[in-house]
Amino acid sequence: MAKKQFKAESKRLLEMMINSIYTQKEIFLRELISNASDAIDKIYYKALTDDQLVFNQEDFYIKVTADKASRTLTITDTGIGMTKEDLESNLGIIANSGSLAFKKENESKDGRNIIGQFGVGFYSAFMVADVVTVTSKALGSDEAFKWESKGADGYIIEPCEKASVGTEIILKIKENTEDDQYDEYLEEYRLKAIIKKYSDFIRYPIKMDVKGKRPKADSENELEDYQEEQTVNSLIPIWRKNKSELTTEDYENFYAEKRYGFDKPIKHIHISADGAAVYHAILFIPENTPFDYYTKEYEKGLELYSNGVLIMNKCADLLPDYFSFVKGMVDSEDLSLNISREMLQHDRQLTLIAKNIKNKIKSSLQSILKEEREKYEQFYKSFGRQLKYGVYSDYGTNKDDLQDLLMFNSSKEKKLVTLDEYVSRMPEEQKYIYYASGESIERIEKLPQTEMVSDKGYEILYFTDDIDEFAIKMLMTYKDKEFKSVSSGDLGIEADANENQTDAEESDNKDLFEYMKSLLNNKVKNVRASKRLKTHPVCLSAEGEVTIEMEKILKAMPNNQDVKADKVLEININHEVFQSLKDAFAKDKEKLNLYTNLLYNQAILIEGLPIQDPVEFTNDICKIMV
Ligand code: ADP
Ligand code: MG
Repeated sequence: MAKKQFKAESKRLLEMMINSIYTQKEIFLRELISNASDAIDKIYYKALTDDQLVFNQEDFYIKVTADKASRTLTITDTGIGMTKEDLESNLGIIANSGSLAFKKENESKDGRNIIGQFGVGFYSAFMVADVVTVTSKALGSDEAFKWESKGADGYIIEPCEKASVGTEIILKIKENTEDDQYDEYLEEYRLKAIIKKYSDFIRYPIKMDVKGKRPKADSENELEDYQEEQTVNSLIPIWRKNKSELTTEDYENFYAEKRYGFDKPIKHIHISADGAAVYHAILFIPENTPFDYYTKEYEKGLELYSNGVLIMNKCADLLPDYFSFVKGMVDSEDLSLNISREMLQHDRQLTLIAKNIKNKIKSSLQSILKEEREKYEQFYKSFGRQLKYGVYSDYGTNKDDLQDLLMFNSSKEKKLVTLDEYVSRMPEEQKYIYYASGESIERIEKLPQTEMVSDKGYEILYFTDDIDEFAIKMLMTYKDKEFKSVSSGDLGIEADANENQTDAEESDNKDLFEYMKSLLNNKVKNVRASKRLKTHPVCLSAEGEVTIEMEKILKAMPNNQDVKADKVLEININHEVFQSLKDAFAKDKEKLNLYTNLLYNQAILIEGLPIQDPVEFTNDICKIMV
């Protein structure tokens, strides 16, 4: 049996294409301009191998003209044009790309890159136009032809007059409807904005006749209308320029023009990569936290260009979450785009670029930290929390990348220090990296638990962000040194006379502590003699994984209501209060109950935890006054 060809219902197909491929109608202009640029590129390629043909860059341009009276928008180019056959096969067969065929014949090696490949972009014109008329004269031909179509019901081709080589596409713009204001595609400012947005870096001038008013030559007060032809695109994108030609100001202007932020970036990173992944990128590290940064509304991502044409406003795949503050753009030639050129297929190239970019950002942050400390601290104030989230999330997968970028306030330095700085200052006998958690530096400094470690002369890192302790738990060690909360059971500080004494007293007072524990009714796991207190009478510490600080944070989140730290009430047995406890234990159990509750609530207060029954607490205080 003879094999049959599939027949597509081309009317339906066209309708589907026109209305479902693109999410935004304005895209049609990007598509037509891309085609025009391709057409000029083709002459350029021909000239490379044809001695008869000279390519003068100045002779080539694209022109966009709107006429409100006739509701027409015209896109003219001085490109290679189309023969009758070309019109037939390129515009008459959906999904046939003359450009793709051309690209295959003329494998380019010099950086000019034909954009077209799917053979559908042209039809996007029907999203905004009732009638599309193409007149074209091909290079090397004497005749010109006109192609015209109202969309679904087919097209005509007939000979016509056209003086110069190239193509002219006339769109008869649709009338406004309730949902769509087609009029806007006849407005100069709107057209300019669309060109700027998508086609700013097409490498041929895109010209428009721009109208304006200016003072009359012979009079100061009178204005006159004028019209002048302007090039509305920037032609050469800043990222394709040589780094040495650009100043910091150029980058800052780009940052502002692109509205990446209202601040000035702390740093720009300009990449022209030529390895396994070929791309250009300009990235910025902003100075200030965007107002919505730590909310769900914030969208991370970089602008993605393919060959100078904007494909995506925010390509999220290009940035890991922990660098979500980075702004900027990437331009690459060899991405596999989907048919609307609005999205990417899952692309190996993109993965490579993303990995590359991640490493560049990391090393750039490291060098700011090393060479421009103040700037880094400013950056860290804005985005440090995000880095700490990065250490914590994904089960710590990225901790190696991030640990050297972390900073915490130091008890000794009274400023932000890195983990490396901390470890390099550690005295030889110090076993752990000590930290203390609390709401603020001022509060932590007053925590009784820090006394012992501070007295030893050891530095303590202050954790004031919710995420800090969680991040550190994920890190576990830094340069083989374990992290240790000043509130944890064993501080690893060498036993001295004091401790031996504590151990002895511990067993002496076992009954007292057991009794106090029973008075506290399961509120604490243990009551014991403290090894860390010097001047304060009591403190709370935690046994096990969950510290008191973590309990506070987890309790503030939904679904974690019953997470509890195993609390230990620590008593300073060298404090005068302890004698009172012993006396009460011997003579007056009622009093011991009162003292125990008071001490427990004091410890709770110092920790910044809520007191269960404040009225009872104040009553208790009154009791000792009378
Ligand atoms: P693509 O650009 O992906 O190939 P299009 O639907 O945009 O698909 O265009 C189809 C084909 O029509 C192009 O490949 C090209 O051969 C031809 N074409 C479109 N516009 C022009 C133009 N302005 N000048 C010359 N050829 C054009
Ligand atoms: Mg195209």
